Amino acid sequence: LFKYNPDCGYLNDTECAYWFLFKDDYLLVKKGSLEQTALLKCNKIDLSNIRIHFCSIFEHINGIYCIYGEIDDSFNANDFQLERFRVRAPVLPIEIFNLTGRAFQLVNWERTHQFCGQCGNPMVKSTKEFAMHCPNCGIANYPRISPAVIVAIIKEKKLLLARRKEFEMNSLIAGYVEAGETLEEAVNREVKEEVGLNVKNIRYFSSQPWAFSYSLMVAFIADYESGDIQPDGIEIEFADWYSTDNLPDKIPGHLSIARKMIDAFCLMD
Ligand SMILES: [Zn+2]
Repeated sequence: LFKYNPDCGYLNDTECAYWFLFKDDYLLVKKGSLEQTALLKCNKIDLSNIRIHFCSIFEHINGIYCIYGEIDDSFNANDFQLERFRVRAPVLPIEIFNLTGRAFQLVNWERTHQFCGQCGNPMVKSTKEFAMHCPNCGIANYPRISPAVIVAIIKEKKLLLARRKEFEMNSLIAGYVEAGETLEEAVNREVKEEVGLNVKNIRYFSSQPWAFSYSLMVAFIADYESGDIQPDGIEIEFADWYSTDNLPDKIPGHLSIARKMIDAFCLMD
């Protein structure tokens, strides 16, 4: 279907694609129209001044292929600029945010798996799946996904919000799942560690990929059981119970599952 073209991948001269090209955590976008989309739709001619280290098709939308890739930062193309994905993310529609996040994770995976972690041999990308294979020792590496839990703790129609030291933001308790741990055990441990509380009735809410930290956020609601709030002082500097009519000003933005949970809490009886 596609001819491989060393300049830009699989497209011939006339075909278009959506390009998700990154340099580190910067996304290549067309200049202007910040509030619009990150989608860069063009064929190889438009990208001829940009050196691409690697690229792959990862998705298609209405027959148009989406391609992720890593570029050289010495590109010279007047119509384009590099912009930090995280900075642009809040203005993106959710579907495009998700697509860009997927590309971001795949680019970072491929860049960091060029060589085998076991024997040091150069890795070869599979043509059938997202996997990097070592032809020498046979090991395969897949894109890294780190599960993390996030939990809305409810006590007498109030929600626990905690402020992390590195962000000026009031959000829910969250943390990475450790090796050998169930999701429920991770919820119990994170809540105990970060604010010193015990919770019960842990139930699933929803999930969301979160590309910036290679996470899959798995969201739960839990009821307060016992204990007094004791911020750990390491990750959490302050935490308190909030009712729907006195939520703090600084809460997570609309893209995050934390915000979806806070909004869902506001709709509860
Ligand atoms: Zn190897």
